[in-house]
Amino acid sequence: MESEVAFQHIASMNNLDDVRNSIAETAWHLAHMGWSEANAGNISVLLPRGTEIELGPNPKAYHLSEPVRSLAGRTLLITATGSRFRRMRTDRETQIVPLAITEFGTAALWPSSYPGPTSEIGTHIQVHSLSPDLGWDSSAIVHTHSTGMLALSSSDIPGEMLGEAVERAHPEITTLMRKGLSFIDFTPPGTWELGRVTMEEFRHSNAVIWRKHGILGYAEDIEMACDYVEMTEKAAQILLLEKSAFGGFQGLKDRELDSLKEEQGQD
Ligand SMILES: [Zn+2]
Repeated sequence: MESEVAFQHIASMNNLDDVRNSIAETAWHLAHMGWSEANAGNISVLLPRGTEIELGPNPKAYHLSEPVRSLAGRTLLITATGSRFRRMRTDRETQIVPLAITEFGTAALWPSSYPGPTSEIGTHIQVHSLSPDLGWDSSAIVHTHSTGMLALSSSDIPGEMLGEAVERAHPEITTLMRKGLSFIDFTPPGTWELGRVTMEEFRHSNAVIWRKHGILGYAEDIEMACDYVEMTEKAAQILLLEKSAFGGFQGLKDRELDSLKEEQGQD
């Protein structure tokens, strides 16, 4: 029995290392793309149920503005406040913080030897709170400040119109992002309110755009969350190129969009 417990502990540690590595690789990739300047961007992974982390003595705490009961007792890994994505492969042991949600879902605790989690922790926790209802044992959020979407979302075009233009700009959005994407008007970063609105949008979106700020992707695993960010950013770049080349957005015509949706319905 004891050896079984020890084995589970080792398996859990290996899993933590794997998740830490995937966060570090994704962060480095985003920095390499030029989408995470300075300390921009944050990533988190909700760990599978039963994954334990060691908090050590006198853990630090972030008190949630309202309880998040669906994550009570769950654990996460999240990038640290002030961490630099370009350095994340080197800093993976110190700048990716283990978090434990308390048993009543009222606070998040982390070991005192680590820096604090990203200031967007409120968004990460609220969005992950959707995962149990989606049937996901684990989930990931990737947030970055990609250039094309920052520029595009700074326009005065209403979010719904912009959303449609993005959908028409790149067929991948229709075929691989079945819930599509949503725009949220500029809201001060690092607030619980921004997290609440973002969570609501993720009920029916694969990616959420914080206008004049950046993109978030949310999925069952980190690769897919990053895919959503990449496809959304690519669509934004296509729109900006079309505007400068042709004076307006081009994109898929109605019949082309319909045929894509029909094809999608067949699988
Ligand atoms: Zn940001």
